[in-house]
Amino acid sequence: MKRALRIPGITRRDFLKTSALAAIGGRIPVGPLFALERGTDRTADRLRKGGMTYRRLGRTELMVSEISLGGSPPPSETVFLKAIEMGVNYVDTSSSYSGGNSERLIGRVIKGRRNTFHVATKFHFYGGWRDTRDALIREAEGSLRRLQTDYLDILLIHNLSDARVAEHEEVLAAFEQLKRQGKIRYTGVSCHQDPVNVLTPVMKGGQYDMITVAYNAYSGTPWEEGSGSDGSPEGYGIGKVLALAKERGVGVVAMKTMAGGQREDLAALLAEGVSLPQAKLKWVLRNDAVSAVITEMDTFDMLKENLAASGKPLTIAENRSLKRYVEATGRDVCRLCGICVAGCPSGIAIPDILRCLQYERDYGKSGLARNTYRTIPASATARGCTRCGQCERSCPFGVRIGLRLRRADRILSWNAGAGRPDS
Ligand code: SF4
Ligand code: SF4
Repeated sequence: MKRALRIPGITRRDFLKTSALAAIGGRIPVGPLFALERGTDRTADRLRKGGMTYRRLGRTELMVSEISLGGSPPPSETVFLKAIEMGVNYVDTSSSYSGGNSERLIGRVIKGRRNTFHVATKFHFYGGWRDTRDALIREAEGSLRRLQTDYLDILLIHNLSDARVAEHEEVLAAFEQLKRQGKIRYTGVSCHQDPVNVLTPVMKGGQYDMITVAYNAYSGTPWEEGSGSDGSPEGYGIGKVLALAKERGVGVVAMKTMAGGQREDLAALLAEGVSLPQAKLKWVLRNDAVSAVITEMDTFDMLKENLAASGKPLTIAENRSLKRYVEATGRDVCRLCGICVAGCPSGIAIPDILRCLQYERDYGKSGLARNTYRTIPASATARGCTRCGQCERSCPFGVRIGLRLRRADRILSWNAGAGRPDS
């Protein structure tokens, strides 16, 4: 049952007053310091500077580079510095990434650039409400120390799976105290699964300034059933989430934008000269609700290729190539919609497992894949699957779930320890 918001000494109205709709005081520098540059039109929704387009993050004052950095893990310091030189001004990280080392590296890089670079990090709600407010504040303060800064541009709840957590009085109280102390500017939530049911009430509640959500070229209904010949996803789950975000002034940062990877054996599906990563980025950025995509760019070549997509429209050749690629690989890419979960009689963490497999296969992030897989209880891994087939019957995208679950178990469980009998 949903719990009422009861924060001792803090009303919901008080909290809203301190949200993005109001100026934030305390030790946080406000105004032009946060603008792209002094004299910038603070009402503009988009700006072009150098080779980068900057978009306003919802109703906030932040103008973020539309192609930004993911910090799981972040690139090396030299690549990171090059990204900044090329116009990137936003990075997404978490207290949990690389055991805190992601925040430490970012802290070293942004030192001395704090007023022109935006950092979003996340804290975790592990369940149970005892000591929650203090625990969350301690975690945020740990992030501040590792990032070598005295404020965070955005603090998010990491991987929110239940909207009630975002509205709980202890969580709101933690955000409120951090804002009052000038330690955070804006608040957000990240969501890896079932965004319709998780994010819709969160956005309607009005307390959060932005969301970070999986959105990519696979997000629409199957292409041939999409509302447009280009496979646009409006009308389907994630499309509705993004439309609501735009209506409510909630900023959207898209993640998992490179889902599906880049398979060499499918290179012939791409028209001559088409870059698959660029096509994927442009497809996401077509949606006006999206302020930025975050993507891992580990090398100078990746930086050069990805950032060249900024400010450019998706061409017909790119769209056609992308459509062919998505059709060829779509049954291997989980959209993280969460629809299959309710029908599984064994409680298998299907989207979580398939997400781990994507980290490994699509992004080449073995460490992240195994570490994330390790957090899944053994009984919820493929070991507990009875192969009843219910999940595949309910998946609207026809994902080959059984095959993917078994593959994940084979690839990820050995080193991770998850699911090993009696271990
Ligand atoms: S096949 Fe396995 S994962 Fe799918 S619904 Fe049945 S038990 Fe759950
Ligand atoms: S397997 Fe299918 S139904 Fe389940 S979360 Fe992924 S896309 Fe949705």
